[in-house]
Amino acid sequence: MIIDTHVHVFRPTDSKGQPQKYSPNPTSGEDYVATMDAAGIDRAFLISFSPDDILADLEAKKLTVEDVKDVMNREYAIEVIRRYPDRFYWFPCHLNPMNADYLERTQRNLDLGAAGLKILPSFFGLLPDDDRLLPLYELAQKYNVSVILDLSFWYLTKGTTRAGFRDVAPLVKDYADLLSHVEPVVEEFSDVNFQLAHAGTGDLQETGKFMSRYTNVFADISARFPGGEDYPFPKGLSALESLITLAGVERVMFGTDWPHFWQGGKMKEIVRCLAEAATFMTPDERALVLGGNALRFVGQVQPGLR
Ligand SMILES: [Zn+2]
Repeated sequence: MIIDTHVHVFRPTDSKGQPQKYSPNPTSGEDYVATMDAAGIDRAFLISFSPDDILADLEAKKLTVEDVKDVMNREYAIEVIRRYPDRFYWFPCHLNPMNADYLERTQRNLDLGAAGLKILPSFFGLLPDDDRLLPLYELAQKYNVSVILDLSFWYLTKGTTRAGFRDVAPLVKDYADLLSHVEPVVEEFSDVNFQLAHAGTGDLQETGKFMSRYTNVFADISARFPGGEDYPFPKGLSALESLITLAGVERVMFGTDWPHFWQGGKMKEIVRCLAEAATFMTPDERALVLGGNALRFVGQVQPGLR
């Protein structure tokens, strides 16, 4: 079983029939499923968001909410999952606490069969242990589902003017300091599995050390692997090895962040690399990274919706 634990899809055209402006790459559910089929990927974690979840990203791309609202929404994610119910686990965001009804929205998505939640604290201008996020972790616990946390440390630079990040950056000394705000969350919700997206977005050694302390903390390797190179991706492999050396092999998961990291025809080689060339792992361990760990991460949850 091969599972890509970090994927997004966007409607290819807006309501006026214009091509989507968010990504230069193909973005539709069909495009991604064709990629899965070509690369031998069985399932994926489909992470969906609303424009207001990622305002800083739109700002950086010089796009408005209006520009993307027809193509970036929960309805399209639901449509794609309904079309391919055995291929996708749903991890909806759509929960920026700036919306007064964010908890109701979240509950509605969990009732629909979401496999977990995707939370982007810095985009919301919040630290991971902010009081406004705690009810979301409680909902994940109540529904027995998992949480994907994207810390987006790489945008928390001093003096940043990005929405959300400009409020969090002055509160965070360094990556270890940011992780110290994840600590009370993963401790209190020790029965909830957390995935640090992009292997935490900070230094891999720090991420590895952090993961070694909490058995409910997983990480995906998207945006870290294959690191812009070709098969057998030596730099990507060494990044992966350094993470696994500290974190162990049982909570590190294959993920691509398609379509941001589109990979195109390379996807098959990435899978082959993890299946064959990552020789610092045994074949059984490679199977864990490619899918076994993801199955454990989602627990009882099945792909598809209710
Ligand atoms: Zn992503």
